Amino acid sequence: MDDVEVRRIRNDFPILSQQVSGKPLIYLDSGATSQNPLSVLEAEQEFYEQRNAAVHRGAHQLAVAATDAFEHARATVAGFVGAKDNELVWTANATAGLNLLAYSFSNASRSGAGNQPSQAQRFALAPGDEVLVTEMEHHANLIPWQELCRRTGATLKFIPVDDDGALRLEEAERLITGRTRILAFTHVSNVLGVINPVRELTALAHNAGALVVLDACQSAPHLPLDLKALDVDFAVFSGHKMLGPTGIGALYGRAELLDALPPFLTGGSMITTVTMSEARYLPAPQRFEAGTQPISQAVALAAAVNYLRETGMDRIHRWETELGQRLVAGLDAIDGVRVLGPKPGRERTGLAAFDVQGVHAHDVGQFLDDRGIAVRVGHHCAQPLHRRLGLTATTRASAYLYNTTDEVDQLLDAAGRIRGYFGVTTRGAGV
Ligand code: PLP
Repeated sequence: MDDVEVRRIRNDFPILSQQVSGKPLIYLDSGATSQNPLSVLEAEQEFYEQRNAAVHRGAHQLAVAATDAFEHARATVAGFVGAKDNELVWTANATAGLNLLAYSFSNASRSGAGNQPSQAQRFALAPGDEVLVTEMEHHANLIPWQELCRRTGATLKFIPVDDDGALRLEEAERLITGRTRILAFTHVSNVLGVINPVRELTALAHNAGALVVLDACQSAPHLPLDLKALDVDFAVFSGHKMLGPTGIGALYGRAELLDALPPFLTGGSMITTVTMSEARYLPAPQRFEAGTQPISQAVALAAAVNYLRETGMDRIHRWETELGQRLVAGLDAIDGVRVLGPKPGRERTGLAAFDVQGVHAHDVGQFLDDRGIAVRVGHHCAQPLHRRLGLTATTRASAYLYNTTDEVDQLLDAAGRIRGYFGVTTRGAGV
């Protein structure tokens, strides 16, 4: 990809042509949420205009058309991440997927849970068991495990990061033991942009008999992802970060695991038979999809995935790597700016979080917004990581396939002016 192609791509994204603060919008906040191409907006509208009905229920033709569209969307999204259709459960977002898992594990920890109690036993946690996460997790992949440990008496441990934010793999080797039941970690950090060694960590966990949960929120939108090849047991991602609408995400699980795991939410559409005293549940994915599902959102997410696939995930990844390197090299060269994560030249995705010494991240965000540049400021839902790196808040610029090198350069130019604007000339002085 190059800037010429990106300019063509931008024509597909109506929101990007607007002005803010009288300046052309420079949207560098796709790590938080991405924008939608016309094909995604049209897919959702077409669904409501032509096929809207409840799925898996009605005998009428609209219901059949809606069900076809919904299940076709599942096959498309599952194929995109290397999964089979029955291995992909729709969720509201990644957070919902992780909570679903954590609550299903605790349901397995109650005696007689689900309608397959003997199979569910393999997920049961008790005092003495350990759940392992990393110090760089988004709160969505931390708090559900904290709560699971609280409910079951298991112990939560974490793999620490070094001063550059890289996982300390020698610590991972020490911490993954026969007591480890679950290893949950992010593929790509939403703060550091670092790509974690999934295969290596998964092999360590599997050798110890632990299950692996991958947070693919910041990888599924940005690089080719084959969950089977990575050999993880479960994974989650969010549609709104990969050109899709809000309200839709997915939980991947190996088929035999999903079929054995007790459900979290119960109710309509996930059962085979119900009496006044008990219920029997459908196999996955339906056993995890109680109630009316986000149907139009699933259809629109499939359109997003088709857009990404047609553009080419390898090409998108290469382009974002180029933008990420430009971003980190430029920020690193600015006096008084500290970039988190891998140093320039080391592998990272197209995002960079940085601290402007002496200027609060919220002031940095305001300064950039006045110039039409949209970034994210704060702790990015990763307070423990910020604490470890000695910071409370940073500014994060995150690029996607629709960002040009010129936009990155404009951010760098503005970033170079921040300390002067706020009158901070010596390190650590000022606000
Ligand atoms: N995990 C990571 C790494 C993220 O970046 C995010 C969102 O920022 C999430 C999980 C949670 O995603 P959502 O809010 O869509 O559930």
